[in-house]
Amino acid sequence: MTTQKVKPSTQSFVFQGVVDKKPPQVLKGKGCRIVVEKNGKVYEDIIDAVTGAAVGALGWGDEDVAKFMVDVLPTHTYTFPAIIGNQNSENLAKFYIDHSPEGAFASALWCGSGSEANENAMKIIHQYWKEKGMPNKKKFISRESSYHGFSLAALSISENARADEFSGILLDPSLCPKMPVCYPYRYQKEGQSEEEYTQSLLDALEKLIIDNDPETVASVTIETLPGSSLGTVPPPKGYLPGIRKLCDKYDILMHLDEVMCGTGRSNPNGGLNCWENFLEPGQFPDMQSVGKTLGSGYITIAGVLVSPKVKEAYDSGSGMVMGGQTYASHGFNCGVSLKIQEKIFKEGLTKNIFEKGNMLGQKLKDAFIGKHNIIGDVRGIGGFWTCELVKDKATKQWFDKKLDLAHRCQDALFEAGLNVVGMQGCVSNKSGEGDFVFMAPAFIITEEDVNEIAKRFITGIEALQEELK
Ligand code: PLP
Repeated sequence: MTTQKVKPSTQSFVFQGVVDKKPPQVLKGKGCRIVVEKNGKVYEDIIDAVTGAAVGALGWGDEDVAKFMVDVLPTHTYTFPAIIGNQNSENLAKFYIDHSPEGAFASALWCGSGSEANENAMKIIHQYWKEKGMPNKKKFISRESSYHGFSLAALSISENARADEFSGILLDPSLCPKMPVCYPYRYQKEGQSEEEYTQSLLDALEKLIIDNDPETVASVTIETLPGSSLGTVPPPKGYLPGIRKLCDKYDILMHLDEVMCGTGRSNPNGGLNCWENFLEPGQFPDMQSVGKTLGSGYITIAGVLVSPKVKEAYDSGSGMVMGGQTYASHGFNCGVSLKIQEKIFKEGLTKNIFEKGNMLGQKLKDAFIGKHNIIGDVRGIGGFWTCELVKDKATKQWFDKKLDLAHRCQDALFEAGLNVVGMQGCVSNKSGEGDFVFMAPAFIITEEDVNEIAKRFITGIEALQEELK
């Protein structure tokens, strides 16, 4: 590779060894705390309020996970899953199926990242319709202001400024129609009830399906609780159930992307799936992508879960999913992931993060909403929270994008002792305006951690407000 100078940024990847100025570097971590070197200064006590990118569940340096990894490595044997399988990948699939509502999932495919999970999901959807004798169903409906990964097909069903950079080499846009974003804070009109707003979104989706000819529509993909695209906007009542009903009406697969919000981060019943907050009893997605906390930052793993209906089409059809990635169903990664998930459930950590996360959200609402400050909206569920920054609370006007406020906020919170992610330009879809910061702490956080995160958050915001005066 030729050396290149790349502007260091917390928002972009850098080519290792060729930057002229280093981004902050992590030195070590334990539990919820990390030690980071930034501009030559070592910060000893940063609370990791976002666990990288909503990845961590057990926190860092978990000794049970470390011991398990060390114990199994001496006999670890890689096999190519198309030729020789491994029990760990089967057991992980069984664990996910058993810890989801009965009848939701029947099988899983494990891969390396959320982007790959969505690529695989799209191919499984395509093959499903071929198995069913309906090869013309090949359009993937998704949503405006969405993010499903950085590989090309995943970017094709995403819509944001990042996807725009690659517009010339994505899937043909006619294959990827977009439905309106669901974003009540900005788009629910004055005087419009939640029910009316939801119905307007469902009507728009139905029109999109009809305009595109339902005979050609394969799937509808949405993030159950959108993360980096919109900042943890909970869907209004009836929205997800309405999408489920439209998918049934027009014979379309419903695919939920729970890479960021799922796998225990925001489940109301101490389980795994975020959709359990929203779908009606007996309603399930047909397919689901997962990742992030599945490996909790210890190993790279993500996956696609499929419903009995999808599995049945394969079972009575070709009997095999077309594919063959070297590291699919990786035995060691699946084993570590299973160990992590077992520990999470044994210790009741999904319940803990739902309760403590909501406590954190409430503290932020109490601190900022209805008061004079730059936080216009605080939103989220369980272990996934976002604060949207606005210049004017009454009009919800964003700050000038040149101020780069999301990243300045991220820096101010870091100085106050918090690791969070600041995102700019996602909420506004294309204009590049709009700033938010999001948090997704480890499932192990205690009430004391919650109090300390809220305290540091308020200190950081106050410092930023002073800077803006
Ligand atoms: N889908 C969603 C909803 C995500 O938030 C992300 C990453 O943030 C992805 C997919 C892509 O996952 P990965 O970065 O592991 O490829």
